[in-house]
Amino acid sequence: MALRPYIVGNWKMNGTRATLPEARAIDRIAGRFPSVEVGITPPFTLLSAMVNDLSHVSVGGQNCHAEAAGAFTGEISAPMLVDAGAQFVLVGHSERRWKFGEGDSLARAKAEAGLAAGLGVILCVGEREEMRLAGRAVETVTAQLKASLPRVDGMVGHLSIGYEPVWAIGTGRVPTLADVSAMHRAIRTALIEVYGPAGARIRILYGGSVTSANAAELLGGDEVDGALVGGASLTAEAFAGIIMAAAARVEA
Ligand code: PEP
Repeated sequence: MALRPYIVGNWKMNGTRATLPEARAIDRIAGRFPSVEVGITPPFTLLSAMVNDLSHVSVGGQNCHAEAAGAFTGEISAPMLVDAGAQFVLVGHSERRWKFGEGDSLARAKAEAGLAAGLGVILCVGEREEMRLAGRAVETVTAQLKASLPRVDGMVGHLSIGYEPVWAIGTGRVPTLADVSAMHRAIRTALIEVYGPAGARIRILYGGSVTSANAAELLGGDEVDGALVGGASLTAEAFAGIIMAAAARVEA
């Protein structure tokens, strides 16, 4: 793993102020493993509290609007995330794509808005099971990626990619290591095609049912620079093993 590992916990629509001690426990663990960059995307309601409470974990938004401000009831913009202390934002998560009908051009606009506001951006892509079964996973994800990538000069250093097969999210099912490696290599090739040599420095995270039991293996895949973790990031006990697996790879 050539790039600094990046382990990000996506809390989705989970957590209240009563859960903050869990985030503080994750922060203490992250402090013990500085070779690993650790982030959490809490629900918006906990963002400021986590920014105040955590010092070793970066805090991000799970989504943002593509516009900076305006008549968009219920939405939150990238500059507002910055104002709340967020350091990064997830865009194009499969739950946004498939449950809220967001497509590639919107993911790209949100990624560009995040970068323009000064946030790190994790752009998520991933195939549905039917495309995997049809043998078209790499083709599908590569097309999705190229259509979603932000085109903002000089900002790609703040971009990461989350490869998350839709069928692996929250299901306990994971692709084979060979399939993860093949997809991450294809994503790397596409990033270099689009951005030139800077594409080699963009971290590519695997996401989908990562746990402390499978993290070491998945993080050993080709071009796997970290993990995007849902369910197993909700408790310090479950998340710790994933952070430690990433740290062990740096030391290996
Ligand atoms: C996610 O939501 O990004 C995710 C990877 O979830 P889980 O780890 O629960 O599969």
